[in-house]
Amino acid sequence: MDLGISGKKALVCASSKGLGRGCAEMLAAEGVHLVLNARGAETLDATAEAIRATHGVTVTPVAADITTEEGRARVLEAAGDVDILVNNAGGPPPGSWQDWERDDFIAALDANMLTPIALIKALVPGMMARGWGRVVNITSQSVKAPIPVLGLSNAARAGLTGYVAGTSRQVAGKGVIINNLLPGIHATDRAVSLDRGVSEQEGITMDEAKTRRAATIPAGRYGTPQEFGAACAFLCSQHAGFIVGQNLLLDGGAVNATL
Ligand code: NAP
Repeated sequence: MDLGISGKKALVCASSKGLGRGCAEMLAAEGVHLVLNARGAETLDATAEAIRATHGVTVTPVAADITTEEGRARVLEAAGDVDILVNNAGGPPPGSWQDWERDDFIAALDANMLTPIALIKALVPGMMARGWGRVVNITSQSVKAPIPVLGLSNAARAGLTGYVAGTSRQVAGKGVIINNLLPGIHATDRAVSLDRGVSEQEGITMDEAKTRRAATIPAGRYGTPQEFGAACAFLCSQHAGFIVGQNLLLDGGAVNATL
């Protein structure tokens, strides 16, 4: 299927590795030019070079912390007008509901709610003026089914989801389509670090920790960044113009719910 987005330009935040990189790769495979972002310049530059070499698209890497005002300003300046925005950032740390203080919530809200909102506010008006745009926010399965130790993530991502539900319906008439992608467990560094935590806490090997977690997923395995990126590319495609303000769960069936 031709996604009809060859020649468009996308800003993919937090994309030197993992799910963000998966999205960038699949957009590049469709001929989309990219602005990539992460804090670490070395991995980011290597990813940019690999995508350029494989797909022949223009790739502009911007090393910056997307959760800071200064970092966003640098990314937005380098990006200019874009047709597609993929919002992503690292997730908040795990913990316990009694322990989080105001500053912990503010940091989580800044990273996983207010940063994507700031980028939507900066870039969607231009998309509306040009009559076409796509925004995909990488959130989490925790929006549908809370993960107890990730209360900061449960809270911040629910806030973004509410904002998107209202905003997406106000901009769709101008050709701008906003949706959320909800990852379950995917084979990225984040999953490795969660498995390492379990392995250390319970005195089991990493393989045992991974096997145990995979067994909780009906698909029997972790998702891949490529699968995730393919869903993202579809939501950024010409064919997604009637999918507005939705929350697409990519979790191998892990959330046990009818709807
Ligand atoms: P990952 O493999 O650790 O990759 C994270 C990427 O984001 C890296 O490129 C990292 O590069 C960049 N990044 C992190 N913080 C950043 C910041 N402040 N500014 C700019 N770039 C930043 O993580 P992932 O698994 O792809 O996860 C992506 C998001 O999905 C996270 O919010 C995570 O909580 C969520 N999620 C993941 C899973 C999963 O199973 N993987 C499940 C549910 C939700 P630098 O470190 O160099 O900045």
